Amino acid sequence: QLRRLEKLARISDRHQNSLRELSEALKTSALQDPLTGLDNRRSLMERLREESERATRKDLPYGLSILDVDRFKTINDRFGHAAGDRALCAISEAIRRSLRDYDVCGRWGGEEFLVLLPETSTDSAAQVTERIRTNIEQLTIDLPHGESPRLTASFGLTQYRQGESFSETVNRADTLLLEAKAQGRNRVVAG
Ligand code: GH3
Ligand code: MG
Ligand code: MG
Repeated sequence: QLRRLEKLARISDRHQNSLRELSEALKTSALQDPLTGLDNRRSLMERLREESERATRKDLPYGLSILDVDRFKTINDRFGHAAGDRALCAISEAIRRSLRDYDVCGRWGGEEFLVLLPETSTDSAAQVTERIRTNIEQLTIDLPHGESPRLTASFGLTQYRQGESFSETVNRADTLLLEAKAQGRNRVVAG
């Protein structure tokens, strides 16, 4: 009887462990972009909501920038989709490398990334964003046949304003990003 009970307990432990692992894996796949390993859009929305609440409660600013890779379609067209994917991974790495531990970055859409800079003044946010821009510009993606396309990105940078919803902040960054494209790309437009 006792042996049977012990066996049942072991089986139950095993099941509980695999359930826990499964639930961890589900959580990761729900919040992480599979290509780059960065936060996905859903996760970013959650972080934006949290950070906006905190900013309102504690009267702290946060910086938000959206960046879009310049002329990315030509990378795919010239070098193929797999090379495009590698370029996106290299860009993700360049963004991550440019940030401080407590900053947040993620993949907002296809070749667009969003960076959230908690408790950051306008000046520091501009410095960090400029660092990301330079690091992307200096990337080299090694491809077969010795080709290495240059990559650049355009940025819209803004600050969360007290009392607004985070989608207003995001929309402002988007408009500034369009302005950066219009001004000739590979630049940060802040507002
Ligand atoms: P612009 O400077 O105006 O942003 O030009 P663009 O070529 O970057 O803009 P456009 O929106 O025309 O093209 C974006 C391209 O990004 C098209 C799409 O196929 C590519 N793209 C989006 N997601 C992925 C992806 O996951 N992998 C690859 N390889 N390409 C992607
Ligand atoms: Mg785009
Ligand atoms: Mg683009």
